[in-house]
Amino acid sequence: MHGVTALILLIAISSVAAGQWGNICAGQSSNKIRGCDQHGCGRYNAPRGRRTHKGVDVVCTDGSAVYAPFSGKIDKQAKPYGNGNAIDNGIQMSGEGFCIKMFYIKPIKYSGAVKKGEKIGVLLPMQSVYRGITSHVHIQNCDLTNPTSNL
Ligand SMILES: [Zn+2]
Repeated sequence: MHGVTALILLIAISSVAAGQWGNICAGQSSNKIRGCDQHGCGRYNAPRGRRTHKGVDVVCTDGSAVYAPFSGKIDKQAKPYGNGNAIDNGIQMSGEGFCIKMFYIKPIKYSGAVKKGEKIGVLLPMQSVYRGITSHVHIQNCDLTNPTSNL
C-alpha cells in the first residue's frame, strides 16, 4: 500500500475510534479523561473507597461552558449527592440511543430539546469543595455501563 494512503486510512480509523460524542467542555479541544490526583482517578471503575467509579470524569475548568455531547432532550435534574453543597447539581439527558447523567454543572434548563454542541450549563466551583482536584464533568451512563468509548 502507498504510504500516504495508509496514513489517511489510519487517520480515518482513529477518528472513528475516538467516539461519537461531541466536545463536552469549552476550552478543551477534545474530551480528556481526568488522570489521578490527591482525590482519586477519573477513569471508569477507579476505586472510590469501598466502591468503584461508575462514570468517567471529563476535564473542565470551574465556570467553563459545558456542551451537549449528542442531540436529544434533557430528561430531568440529576444530583450527585443530594446534600446541597456547591457542586450538587446536574442533569440527565437522552437521545441517539444514549442516556447519561452529567454532574457538577449548573444547568441552563431541566427539560426540552438540545442539539449536540449546544451549551447546557457551566461547571460549578469544584475547587471550593475539593481543593486541588482536576476539575471535571462527571458523566455516567444511566445503566452504569462504561461510557469511555463514546468520548
Ligand atoms: Zn466522577
